[in-house]
Order: sequence, then C-alpha cells, then structure tokens
Amino acid sequence: MSHPVTLIPGDGIGPEVAEATVRAVNATGVIIDWQRADLNASIITKSGAVLPPHVIESIERTHVGLKGPVTTPIGGGFTSVNVALRKEFDLYANVRPVHSLPGLKTRFTDVTINMVIFRENTEDLYSGLEHEVVKDVVTSLKVITRNASIRIAEYAFDYTRKSGRKKVTAIHKANIMKLADGLFLRCCREVAARHPEIEYKELIVDNASMQLVIRPETFDVLLLPNLYGDIVSDLAAGLVGGLGVVPGANMGDDAAVFEAVHGSAPDIAGKNLANPTALMLSAALMLIHLGEPEAARRLRIAIEQTYADQKRLTPDVGGNGTTHDFTDAVISNLG
Ligand code: NAD
Repeated sequence: MSHPVTLIPGDGIGPEVAEATVRAVNATGVIIDWQRADLNASIITKSGAVLPPHVIESIERTHVGLKGPVTTPIGGGFTSVNVALRKEFDLYANVRPVHSLPGLKTRFTDVTINMVIFRENTEDLYSGLEHEVVKDVVTSLKVITRNASIRIAEYAFDYTRKSGRKKVTAIHKANIMKLADGLFLRCCREVAARHPEIEYKELIVDNASMQLVIRPETFDVLLLPNLYGDIVSDLAAGLVGGLGVVPGANMGDDAAVFEAVHGSAPDIAGKNLANPTALMLSAALMLIHLGEPEAARRLRIAIEQTYADQKRLTPDVGGNGTTHDFTDAVISNLG
C-alpha cells in the first residue's frame, strides 16, 4: 500500500535535509506517494498568502505532511508559516520526543535523557492578538481556554498510558497568572484525576527550567501551554545536542505535520553540510502515524547506529561528514 504524504522541503537547508530524508524513508521499503508542495519566501510574497492554496489543498488530500524549515522575516513581513499551518489544520498538539543519542557528546553525556514534551499549539500568546493602545504602549493577549487545555492534557495522558510512560509534569506560572495559567492547571488536574495510574506533578516554569538542567534524567512527559512549551522544548533539545537532532510533530484530529524544529540555517545552506537527523527522526514519527511502526523503529535504530559509529557525522555534531555521507551511512545501517 502506498501512503500519500505532502512533502514541503521549505528553503535554506530545507531541500537538502528533505532529499536526504526521502532517500532514507524510501530505503525502509515503505512506499510513500510523495506529493511535493514548494513553499518559500518568494512563493509566499508572490501569492500574497502565507499558506498558498496548493499547500492547503495538498494537505487536505493527504492529511499528512513532512516539512522542512521556511525562512520567516523577523519583526515584520509575512507571519510564520508554522503558526498558519497549525491554525489552518487545527494541529493542537506539538509533540517533541527528546532522547540522548549514543556517541553524541553533549554537556549531559553522563545521563540518559528520555522525555516527551507536549505543547499546546493553538492559543496562549500565539493568538496574535496584539494592539497599540496609545503610541509606545502595546498589549498582547494571552488566551487560555478550557477546551484547548483539556484536549492537550488528554492527548498527553493518553500518549503516556499507551506508551507505558509513568509520569506527567504540568508546567505553569499560575502563581502569577492566576486566571490564565490557573485555568490551564485546573484542566491538567481534571484529566490527571481520570488517570490515577500515572504519577502527576506540577512545576512552576522557572523552577522547571532549572530542574531540567540539573537533573534532566528525572523528567518523563512534560505538559505545557504554548509559550512555555516553545521555550522549554528548545532548552530540552539543547540537553541532547541541539535542534539539529530533535524531531517534532504537530498533531490534529484530521491532519498531522511532522517537521524538523530547526530553522533554514542560511549560513550553511547549499553546502552539503546540513544535519538531516531532525527531519529523519520526524519522518520516523510520521511512519508510526502511518501505521508503519517497524519501519519507524528500523529507521531510528539506523540513525542511532550512525551516531554510535561516529564516522560520518556532520560538522554541527563534531564530525567532518557531509549531508550525503550521513545519509549513505543511515541507509547502509538500515540493512
Ligand atoms: P536556525 O535553526 O536556522 O540556525 C541556528 C544555527 O543552527 C545556525 O548556526 C545553523 O547553521 C545551525 N543549524 C540549524 N539547523 C541545522 C542543521 N539541520 N544542521 C546543521 N546546523 C544547523 O535558526 P535561525 O538562524 O534563528 O533562523 C533562520 C531562519 O529560519 C529564520 O528566518 C527563522 O525565522 C526560520 N525558522 C524557521 C523554522 C521553521 O520553519 N520550522 C523554525 C525556526 C526558524
């Protein structure tokens, strides 16, 4: 059976890591009907839409996307493609597994890190509701709703139960934002009460950030509203080697988009130096979603083996290999 997937290579290093990932996924033997949808700054500017119709129509058909990074202008210009995708397809759960990779030297090499972060993806300070009250005074609205908080909490607890994980930590700042974060926390508690078999803890976000650095090995599943989730998930990525090696998934009820969480890295674009690990691991999550868990497992193990061998790694993780070298090694480790 062939699985239709919308492939959005993006720009910068996006096309290089996308090509590498397509090669690795195809080498697992799973047949994917890749439907390529190009998206970059010039297409967006020309079409006048952050999400041009060809991208929307493709994901409406396939329900599954694999996406590389797209350059987003800072402090002006068009809005983020990722935020637009999440809103368009109601991709309410951002899921980021953060695992140590064998052989990859980090400041935390002496501990085994294995956590999964669930970040609410649709509201909070990302609602985009900002306005200038009077000159030089701006407000930005933080929106927290019961519906969105309950569904991300249910998603996280459901995953925890199915995957045999043991503990969920909800992260908040309800001591200060008593109403907004207070509501988020009440929803987490309500869902936690329906899962007595899962240990439930709460941490204030500043303390959680410190604990993550001091004893990262004690974290299992983390549950956060949008902004803290964004920041804490990058912090967590830094514990295991950075954004170049951490995958991401944006999950909704009708669609899912799997993406590398790093940016378009214009400094190394076109040089065959980009590390495709993050997009390859995202593709492994996609294979699970497509009902191909064995291929996903083989791909993940082949990537881990390539790190353990330490021969053909890219420069960002201390090697002197190219994107192609790394990809060839992963494919040969697939057997
Ligand atoms: P970046 O992630 O592109 O780069 C930060 C640093 O990490 C750079 O030194 C880069 O070379 C390195 N790096 C990132 N990914 C790498 C990889 N796979 N292999 C090797 N090295 C890698 O972050 P930035 O410079 O802040 O952003 C550049 C552009 O990307 C901006 O326009 C930003 O808006 C956009 N961006 C897009 C996404 C997305 O589409 N998902 C995410 C973040 C940033």
